[in-house]
Amino acid sequence: MKEKIEKRTCTRCEQEKEPAEFYTESRYYCISCERETARDRMSRYGKTLRGKAAQALATSRKTIKRNGYKVKDDLTLMDVIFTFAMADGECSYCGKVTDDYQMEHIVSLAKNGPNTLSNICVSCKPCNLSKSSKGLLQWREYDEVVDVIQKMAGRRGVTIEEVLEDFTT
Ligand SMILES: [Zn+2]
Ligand SMILES: [Zn+2]
Repeated sequence: MKEKIEKRTCTRCEQEKEPAEFYTESRYYCISCERETARDRMSRYGKTLRGKAAQALATSRKTIKRNGYKVKDDLTLMDVIFTFAMADGECSYCGKVTDDYQMEHIVSLAKNGPNTLSNICVSCKPCNLSKSSKGLLQWREYDEVVDVIQKMAGRRGVTIEEVLEDFTT
């Protein structure tokens, strides 16, 4: 039997959309509206975002080089700017909004996590420190991080189960 999928209405474009067209259940805007507002933010805060993003990208490359990590790395400056613009200062883990956010690898580089768009998010300093290089599910209960996992799945175009496989290997 097919499960009944509830459509939801985006509060920005006011169109009825499938749940898959939203990043997470807690978001009010559909993905295309989120992208549009992120683009607006990019043009408004472009300079600040670019500087912060360039620094975050450089730091990640330095970490990989210094430790000799053999991880996939195709992260671009635009990927980081886009991630920062989408988050608008909101920590992906605890939801706190701060100016002092950092680029965070969901599967840490030390645990062989790739330096790619699908593996990065925005984290506040306390969450970043507390998570450190722990696995996401060693650090938090599944229910607390399901939003982040859903977002990863959406960006990679895979299922939540496939994302979870990465956490257990
Ligand atoms: Zn919309
Ligand atoms: Zn946080």
